[in-house]
Amino acid sequence: MSCSALIVGAGPAGLSAAEILSAAGWKVTVIEALESPARKFLRAGVGGLNLTHSQPLEDFLNAYAGHRERLEPFLRRFGPQELTAWAEDLGIRLFTGSSGKIFPEGMAAGPLLKAWLDRLAAAGVQLETGTRWVGWGPGLSLEVEQDGGRKVLQADAVILALGGPTWPALGTGGSWVPLLEEKGLAFSPWQPANVGFTVNWSDFFSQKFAGQPLKDTRLLGRRGELMVTPWGLEGGLLYAAGAVLRQQLSHGNTGTTQISLDLVPGREQGRIEAELSRPRQGRSLSTLLQKTLGLTGVKVGLLREVLKPGSPDEPTRVAALLKALPLTLTGTRPLSEAISAAGGVLWTELTHGLELNKIPGVWCAGEMLDWEAPTGGYLLTACFSLGRAAGESVLYWEKHKELS
Ligand SMILES: Cc1cc2nc3c(=O)[nH]c(=O)nc-3n(C[C@H](O)[C@H](O)[C@H](O)COP(=O)(O)OP(=O)(O)OC[C@H]3O[C@@H](n4cnc5c(N)ncnc54)[C@H](O)[C@@H]3O)c2cc1C
Repeated sequence: MSCSALIVGAGPAGLSAAEILSAAGWKVTVIEALESPARKFLRAGVGGLNLTHSQPLEDFLNAYAGHRERLEPFLRRFGPQELTAWAEDLGIRLFTGSSGKIFPEGMAAGPLLKAWLDRLAAAGVQLETGTRWVGWGPGLSLEVEQDGGRKVLQADAVILALGGPTWPALGTGGSWVPLLEEKGLAFSPWQPANVGFTVNWSDFFSQKFAGQPLKDTRLLGRRGELMVTPWGLEGGLLYAAGAVLRQQLSHGNTGTTQISLDLVPGREQGRIEAELSRPRQGRSLSTLLQKTLGLTGVKVGLLREVLKPGSPDEPTRVAALLKALPLTLTGTRPLSEAISAAGGVLWTELTHGLELNKIPGVWCAGEMLDWEAPTGGYLLTACFSLGRAAGESVLYWEKHKELS
């Protein structure tokens, strides 16, 4: 008789686990609280589904920074190359953007998800949407809510792939946490990752420049783009520095931290100063910045925001500010707006095979675990990888359980 698995959560991690187990002949049921599967994955495709990254594996692994050590064994088994091959095997054509990021042709997640769900259904995976895990039943069973009623589902193995607390409309907002706390599991507190930071702009600056990109800017040694918003700044440059900035915010007494933006990364400070020291011939600072450095719009506005009206704009000061413009970050935007979450189930709660030490027979995978990564395809790659690893670990356990 074949073994049965109950997987909770139909995101990339849960569906990856389902794929491994169904391929091994297991009877697999995936339950999903929402009315349709993989809502966050589909939403990720709205701005362009960045599935993974084409950089060398060593660089790819380094993007996980302090979480590399935990994730590396999984990503070496199923990493960017394997994910790319997997998507192509599903019939999805991929392309690599100029930044090295890998996307499906057409950028959306829908065609990939449809092909994947069709393949899972053909392999016998049963997907029950509108079915929410709400409690523990006797033994290794889960109590679920479905169609307004409750029932208990039983299986030989349970995999939890519940996602994080961000974008609550696309998941359950981390409402599952008490169910694991009840069993004594410890968590690292959730924090927003890949999220905007707040800055107290003047009304003038915010009204005039919100929605405009700060192109070619350097922050903490990286060059890229930021977006001005009514409440502050967001974008890839800040996301990459997010963990460091969050730490600085929490360590100070003021609840704020200062960043320094290089608005002209291709230019040397001395040369800028020399250019700005030439006779002005009645030209305003803005005109001079445009003529000598090609600076216009939002970058000049940002300089003016820091210079403040009436303050002296001598060349030395302006050149220094352009190379290191100080801005005070007053906090992050909330978890509900973050692309991903840091924090989650502590790794010390898990075996190397992702089984919970305190609840044998239950495995965990995906964003619900305590790791984070910047945007760039690192999030999805790790979720696929962890989901597959949980599935493989269940197979290993099944094969060896008589020996233990
Ligand atoms: C706007 C946005 C854009 C993004 N873009 C990208 C991108 O381009 N590239 C990238 O790498 N990553 C991106 N991400 C992140 C990526 O989508 C997530 O990291 C990934 O979906 C997490 O996968 P998961 O399977 O762990 O969790 P999820 O995808 O969150 O799936 C978990 C599932 O579990 C279900 N669930 C939770 N609790 C219960 C319960 N009690 N009972 C039943 N079901 C339950 C949820 O409803 C959910 O469907 C983006 C995220 C957002 C919000």
